Amino acid sequence: MHMPRKRFGQNFLTDKNIIFKIINAVNPKPSETLLEIGPGFGALTLPLLETCKKLYAVELDRDVIPHLKISAESVGELILHEGDVLKFKFQDLFSNLQKIRCIGNLPYNISSPLIFHLLEQREWIYDMHFMLQKEMVNRIVAKPGSKEYGRISVMVQYFCKVEKLFIVKPTAFNPPPKVDSAIIRLKPHEKLPVIADDEKNFADLVRDAFNQRRKTIANSLKKYITSEKLRELDIDPKIRAEELSVADFVRMANNLF
Ligand code: SAM
Repeated sequence: MHMPRKRFGQNFLTDKNIIFKIINAVNPKPSETLLEIGPGFGALTLPLLETCKKLYAVELDRDVIPHLKISAESVGELILHEGDVLKFKFQDLFSNLQKIRCIGNLPYNISSPLIFHLLEQREWIYDMHFMLQKEMVNRIVAKPGSKEYGRISVMVQYFCKVEKLFIVKPTAFNPPPKVDSAIIRLKPHEKLPVIADDEKNFADLVRDAFNQRRKTIANSLKKYITSEKLRELDIDPKIRAEELSVADFVRMANNLF
């Protein structure tokens, strides 16, 4: 018997209704290219394979892989990349640039770096459906003015359309995690609604703006932009980062010293 590994964030999905609900939300088609992150023992893999007959997956835990391969054999073609998804490049599995649908009940301990890692390769991604901690989903979809709104909201919403789909209770997993989870849909914009001239400057500015959330924006960004310039850009220097929209951050990033 396999003991779920904490360091691999292993909370295996067992609730058939939730599995069905996730597959329904993804609504996969046989013509599409699907990539699952962390298939584990195949709770999502097997129903996805049943519909699509072919599925790509990245899995780090060498112990689960033989079981997964055996279960998948009679259902469809499973093409596995054995390794760390944080080091995964789409070129490791695919030779031609194409739009891929990513799916995963993600290991929660790596979900934030993983989303940033995937966003760096977004030219490969059609959409993503992920199970994350509910708090993380709330932060990603948060709107300006809410207490959950922060760096990850701005960065993910800059690149993607974001949608919180539904909540999943701990009882849907074995072992049950300590917190609620939720399914999120991220769809990289085909055309960015607002464009930062330099994405690194934009990312640095967003990071520094939220580093000390209680400071005014003029104060936390004084190494980038003057209060006078902020006023010219129609931004009140006395407000805090959490009140600014993605478009405001882009406008600031495009008007640095
Ligand atoms: N998909 C399965 C399910 O829903 O029952 C397993 C989900 S479990 C939350 C996370 C899975 O990701 C595990 O199979 C784990 O071994 C795998 N994993 C953890 N860290 C990983 C990494 N860095 N790269 C690839 N897979 C990883």
